[in-house]
Amino acid sequence: MIPMVDLKRQYHNLKTEIDAAVSDVLEQTRFILGPNVSALEEEVAAYHGLPYAIGVANGTDALLLALRACGIEAGDEVITTPFTFIATAEVIALLKAKPVFVDICPDTYNLDYSRIADKITAKTKAIIPVHLFGHPADMAPIMEIARKYNLKVIEDCAQAFGAKYQDKKVGAIGDVGCFSFFPSKNLAGYGDGGMVITKSETIAKQVKMLRNHGSSKRYYHQEIGYNSRLDEIQAAIIRVKLKKIDQFNAARRQNAAAYCAAINPKEIILPAAAPGCEHVYHQFTIRAKNRDILAEALQKEDISSAVYYPVPLHRQDVFVKLYNASEKLPVCEKCAQEVLSLPMFPELSQDEIRLIADIINHVS
Ligand SMILES: *Cc1c(COP(=O)(O)O)cnc(C)c1O
Repeated sequence: MIPMVDLKRQYHNLKTEIDAAVSDVLEQTRFILGPNVSALEEEVAAYHGLPYAIGVANGTDALLLALRACGIEAGDEVITTPFTFIATAEVIALLKAKPVFVDICPDTYNLDYSRIADKITAKTKAIIPVHLFGHPADMAPIMEIARKYNLKVIEDCAQAFGAKYQDKKVGAIGDVGCFSFFPSKNLAGYGDGGMVITKSETIAKQVKMLRNHGSSKRYYHQEIGYNSRLDEIQAAIIRVKLKKIDQFNAARRQNAAAYCAAINPKEIILPAAAPGCEHVYHQFTIRAKNRDILAEALQKEDISSAVYYPVPLHRQDVFVKLYNASEKLPVCEKCAQEVLSLPMFPELSQDEIRLIADIINHVS
């Protein structure tokens, strides 16, 4: 059996350190906004070369609080990609703003910057690029458009901790970076968790207040906020893994290279890093016309694969109903029919990669 992600292998490798970290938290009994949350915030800020990082309850809240801190409100429009997890656009709709979907590049599955300007109106306030599957979105032209039209840029880095775009870490390029520590992400806890990073003191202060019931001084409340704090036990676990994140990401890149060397069929499109980009392969996603047949062949050998994402967001019932939309975004729709993600995690073995590639080579 080969799962998409094997969390047990990583836990067993780190068991001594993680068990000690969790046990320390239990002994210290400072469970809410304790020392591990502040330490992790400092470490994540330093990792990105930024002054501020604020731990929150999950990646969805990281996006929600970041949007609010950027002043997004009812009636605003926010440009984003339709090829992502629902959370990216859900938070826009939760604020009664409107997600405006722009088609993607077929080679990176990320927002196609050349199609953004057409969708900008007087109501447009922000862009949310997503660094999907661990590949950075094309940030230089996106930042240029944002500056020209005075838009905020909120990076959805949920799948891309440590990925680099022209020597800058993703999340440190736009106004705000948002991370998820959901267990299957490339930097993860053993439950929900998230983080917001920024160079802006104003945004940092606002997020910090919003995550704690709109309060910066206990029992004094300036805004309607949330209970959205990062859990102390999760922070302790994530701190252990943060020390190894570059190593984990390098192992993912090596596994991706091994897959690419072993998968033969010319008609299968393999993932690759665009020039100037360091991919972290949160997912190893191939594209094939016969992807359902490939998935079946793998399943027969007890190997998992997954389709991220079968239905683009502009085609999801919830958004079709909300906006009465029947828009066509052809690149995204074609990719949704052809993508297949294969097992990918740092501890995946070379033998397993060869086995998976052999099955794919046989079918094609
Ligand atoms: C996982 C994910 C999120 C949401 O993170 P949660 O921690 O699960 O709330 C948002 N955007 C993308 C692209 C994701 O992959």
